[in-house]
Amino acid sequence: MQKEIDMLDVQKIREDFPILKREVNGKPLVYFDNAATSQTPQVVIDAIVDYYSNYNANIHRGVHTLSQEATDAYEIARKKVQNHFNAEHAHEIILTSGTTHSINIVATGFTNLLTKGDEIIVSALEHHSNIVPWQMLCERTGAVLKVIPMNVEGELVMDVYDQLLSEKTKLVFTNHISNALGTINPIEEIIQKAHNVGAAVLIDGAQSCPHIKPDVQDLDVDFYVASAHKLCGPTGVGLLYGKSAWLNKLPPYQGGGEMIDQVTFEKTTYAGLPHKFEAGTPNICGGIAFGVALDYMNSIGFDNIAEYENELLDYGTKKLLEIEGLRIYGTSKHKTSVISFNIDNIHPYDIGSIVDKLGVAVRTGHHCAQPIMDFYKIPGTIRASFSFYNTKEEIDILVASVKKAKMMLS
Ligand SMILES: *Cc1c(COP(=O)(O)O)cnc(C)c1O
Repeated sequence: MQKEIDMLDVQKIREDFPILKREVNGKPLVYFDNAATSQTPQVVIDAIVDYYSNYNANIHRGVHTLSQEATDAYEIARKKVQNHFNAEHAHEIILTSGTTHSINIVATGFTNLLTKGDEIIVSALEHHSNIVPWQMLCERTGAVLKVIPMNVEGELVMDVYDQLLSEKTKLVFTNHISNALGTINPIEEIIQKAHNVGAAVLIDGAQSCPHIKPDVQDLDVDFYVASAHKLCGPTGVGLLYGKSAWLNKLPPYQGGGEMIDQVTFEKTTYAGLPHKFEAGTPNICGGIAFGVALDYMNSIGFDNIAEYENELLDYGTKKLLEIEGLRIYGTSKHKTSVISFNIDNIHPYDIGSIVDKLGVAVRTGHHCAQPIMDFYKIPGTIRASFSFYNTKEEIDILVASVKKAKMMLS
C-alpha cells in the first residue's frame, strides 16, 4: 500500500496546484468535484500566461512571426493529443470546444447517413450531452433510439445489448466511465459486438481520460471524444477523434473561415481534415495548454494515477459506509474514484451546503444523468470524486463533515 504512495508523491504533486493552498469559508479547501472539472497545475497556467504574454496571434493564415509561432505551437499540441490517444494520423484529431461539441459534430453529421427505421443504441448510464443530440438526430431522421438498461449495481445489462443489436443498428454510443456512478463500462466488448453488425461506435471518454490512457487504434473505435478541463487542462477545448474514413464521410458541422478550400458565390469546396471541422478561430491558447496538460499527466503516469486513485476509492468507500444510513449508488467492481451517495431521506443539497461551509467541495444533484436518478427513484446524490492530488486526510475531513451535516439535519 505505502509503496504506491511513494511512487506518486502526493505532497509534491499538491505543490503543483496553486488552488489547493486556498481556504474556503475559513477552512482548507478539500476539492472533491473532480468529475465536474479538474484543477489546473502551474505548468498549464504558465503556458496560458506565456501564450498571451509572448505570441498571441491568429493561426494558419499569417506570414508574420507571431502567427507562425502560434500555428507551430497549436499543431504541436495536436500532435501531443494524437500521441496520447494513439491516433494513426494527426488529421484524425479535431480540436473542438469539448465533449459536447464533439458529440454534436458526429450526431449532426449522421443526419444524411440514416433513414427511417435505422436504430441507434445508447446506454442507460449516459450524460445528458450524450442523450439529447441522439434524440435530436432521431427526430430529424426517423431513426429509433434503443437503450441498454442498467442493473442496481449501476452496470450495463450486456445480455440486453446482445438482443438490441441487429442489422438495423447503425450507431452505438456509450461513455467509457459513468460520471454519475463511476462505473467502467466494457467498451472493448461493446465496440466489437457493434462492429459485428456493421454499426459505428462513439465512445465518450470525458470521464475516463483522467484515469485511463485510451488507445483508439487498439480499441478500434470509430469516434472518441473528451474534454481538456477534466484532464488538468483549461475549459473550452477538447477533441473529436475519428477514423479518417468516417471523418471524410461526414459533412462539415459549421461553415466559416478556415474550413474552406475555395469559395465563390456559386460553390465552395471544403478544406481537408482536420480543418473541415475547425471553422473559425479556435481556442488557440486552450489547445496549446491542453497539450501541456497531457505532458503533465503523462509525467506522473496513468498507471500510478489509477493505482493511487483506487486506493482513495477503497478508503473513501470503507470510511463513508461506516456512517449509519449512508447508501452508495454505483457498486460495480469495475469503477473509478467516484462515490455517489445519500443518507436516509436527507436531501443531497442540504448536505452539500453544510459540507461546503466546512471547506469541502462535492457535487449534489442529478449530475446531468436524470435517467440514472429515475432508476433509483431519487432526486439526486452527493458525489465525491477523487483525483490523484487528493489525500486520505482529505477523505477523513469529508467523512467528518458529512457526519456533522447528518447530525444537524436529522
Ligand atoms: C463532463 C462530461 C461530459 C460533458 O463534457 P463538456 O466538457 O461539458 O462538454 C460528457 N460526458 C461525460 C461522461 C462527462 O463526464
